[in-house]
Amino acid sequence: MNYADIKDIDIQDGQGIRTSLYVSGCHFHCKECHNKEAWDFSFGKKFDDFAKKRIFKNLEKDYIEGLSLLGGEPLELINQQALVPFIKEVKEKFPNKDIWCWTGYDFEKDILNNMYKKYNFTRELLKYIDIIVDGQFEIEKHLVNLKFRGSYNQRKIDVQESIKKNTLIRLQFGDEYRYEKNVAKESIAKENINYIPNIVVPVTQDITENNIFSPKVVAKTKDNLDIKEAL
Ligand code: SF4
Repeated sequence: MNYADIKDIDIQDGQGIRTSLYVSGCHFHCKECHNKEAWDFSFGKKFDDFAKKRIFKNLEKDYIEGLSLLGGEPLELINQQALVPFIKEVKEKFPNKDIWCWTGYDFEKDILNNMYKKYNFTRELLKYIDIIVDGQFEIEKHLVNLKFRGSYNQRKIDVQESIKKNTLIRLQFGDEYRYEKNVAKESIAKENINYIPNIVVPVTQDITENNIFSPKVVAKTKDNLDIKEAL
């Protein structure tokens, strides 16, 4: 497997401060994808021991909450097979750090009812992933302030709870904070990192009301989806 990038410190992709791996290869080719160069499976560099050690070193830091897998498409079959031993090692070495994964596949249709049933490596990989953000990017459903998603058809899914309860368990608005552990502020100060917490600001695009924080307001997207659900 090749990878397009490693972000040692990432505050955009998942809850808290994270380290992120962008794998190469994606067959979805969504309209207006931001990572087009990573569609090519041979883009970037080989995911070798040097890259793995770099990620392990990041995860040793107290203030790094976990690992985010993005792409490209981490759940392309060939990428899954390459990721299994690495992700297993991550969880063995860092059992308290969480793993988030972004995929264009649909969680129920493609992952649980297809790959999970067919492939050992999918079952193995899903043992270690805490949160999946699923679904292809749809430019028509793009909202600028979505949390950890580009378009509101995409869903943040609690993988372990969904498998245990055999039903889809989505993170609702604000639930992500369950996954944020106490950030070691001293170690951040020591390394001179500016920690900017994830902040959701009111959405002003494509909705009829924009004060999403008032419980009295029922804000809707253009296609009549409750904005709290959409976020
Ligand atoms: S699934 Fe992600 S990486 Fe692949 S084309 Fe869509 S937005 Fe781009």
